Amino acid sequence: MSYDFDLFVIGAGSGGVRCARVAASHGARVAVAESRHWGGTCVNLGCVPKKLMVQASDYGDWVDDSHGFGWNTQRGHNDWGALIAAKDREIARLNGIYVSMLEKADVALFTGHATIEDAHTLRIDPSPLAPHEAPRRVTAARIVIAVGSTPTLPKLPGVEYAISSDQAFHLEARPARVCLVGGGYIGVEFAGIFRGLGSSVDLVYRQNLPLRGFDADLRHALHDAIDLRGIRQHVAASPTAIEKQADGSFVVNLDNGTRIETDCVFFATGRHPKITGLGLTQLGVAMEENGRIIVDDGSETTVPGIYAIGDVTNRLNLTPVAIAEGHNLADRLFGKAPPRQWCYATTPKAVFFTPTLSSVGLTEAEAAKEGDVDVYVSRFRPMRNTLSGRAQRTLMKLVVDQASQVVVGAHMLGDDAPEIMQGLAVAVTAKLKKTDWDRTIGIHPTAAEEFVTMRTRTRVTPRSAG
Ligand code: NDP
Repeated sequence: MSYDFDLFVIGAGSGGVRCARVAASHGARVAVAESRHWGGTCVNLGCVPKKLMVQASDYGDWVDDSHGFGWNTQRGHNDWGALIAAKDREIARLNGIYVSMLEKADVALFTGHATIEDAHTLRIDPSPLAPHEAPRRVTAARIVIAVGSTPTLPKLPGVEYAISSDQAFHLEARPARVCLVGGGYIGVEFAGIFRGLGSSVDLVYRQNLPLRGFDADLRHALHDAIDLRGIRQHVAASPTAIEKQADGSFVVNLDNGTRIETDCVFFATGRHPKITGLGLTQLGVAMEENGRIIVDDGSETTVPGIYAIGDVTNRLNLTPVAIAEGHNLADRLFGKAPPRQWCYATTPKAVFFTPTLSSVGLTEAEAAKEGDVDVYVSRFRPMRNTLSGRAQRTLMKLVVDQASQVVVGAHMLGDDAPEIMQGLAVAVTAKLKKTDWDRTIGIHPTAAEEFVTMRTRTRVTPRSAG
């Protein structure tokens, strides 16, 4: 059989673009279809605009802190319109870069919504990005589904008044009051953004601490940092209904009886795979109840020749993981050298609150399931905060498997935590021992040096029964 393409990638997000470019570099005839944004969620409605907005939200603190260093600057106000326009210009530039990268790699671009008609045939229909394109039909030897995920909002009365992160990046004006629901990555990050830009913020989540799954000490430190930033936390609470008021504002009713008056209700309650309209059910591609496409270790779905990578497989929904999966798949299908292997378990994570937090490897509780654990914790006031007078403290923590003395987890809440953690992730992935960390000289004066100077064990956590 001869097909139009060796590989057809649906979705030009981080994973899809990497897969297409690498496959093309191996000599494959590759096409990509994109219905909405070149660059996908990360570039358009995720990591990139989020980080720009986190940076924007930090400037007020920098002005306040400068007073302790002899400056007489005044805080002023953030111009939301100017920020959004500047952010959109940068995103448009990145969209162009994505398109030109694909074109330079000789990847054929299809703007439109792709539906898989059978294991080798796709139909491309007009989409919002290209409403006037005529429908087309193409064939491919192999198909990769890289369509990502979309926000999930729970069903409750008045939820139609709520926004998700998709809308938050394009609000016409910054709401004076924001009520965020969800204590995960997006809830915490946007609480920090809006608070830093000057909004009054309520953060509602159903656990006792934010960021379920992260290390307990880090979660406690984040809880305190959220308080310190002047964000009202409503813990162990869930919304039951949202009411719209006559003046256009809203009331969020919680299951503990609290009523929160606000100008914007923002749900950050998780994301689900974006599988609608792809034709997967007719094709027999197996999915879990939540829409997650089931794949094997080689990213192949239950239909031979059809693959899935990134958030749509709901393995570890992080951009660099989607990129690694896309790269690995392209190498395996078309490359000559064995594909790069990587370790899901030591994928570093970061949450861009102010201050940032970042982790790699096991939490103390996870490590204790394997054996006795040596725990090293350091809490200190970072140097900048001595003169600025800011009360925020930094937390650093190492989790060491007692029997082997391998450092199995590193955790930090403090300025530049993700920048520091990237290097530490190499050490944790390489399974270096605490003695290797100890014989490494620090860089002085930095906060990071604390990770190689923690000599006194804080506690031993015995192996847990669980
Ligand atoms: P998360 O899964 O991180 O958090 C979802 C939050 O919503 C949790 O607090 C969860 O509570 C809560 N929740 C879920 N359903 C309900 C409900 N019905 N009622 C009340 N609360 C509910 O999802 P996000 O939306 O924050 O982010 C989606 C994903 O995007 C992340 O998991 C991450 O993979 C990725 N991401 C990564 C970022 C980064 O790397 N910095 C930044 C942003 C997103 P509970 O814990 O009790 O389940």
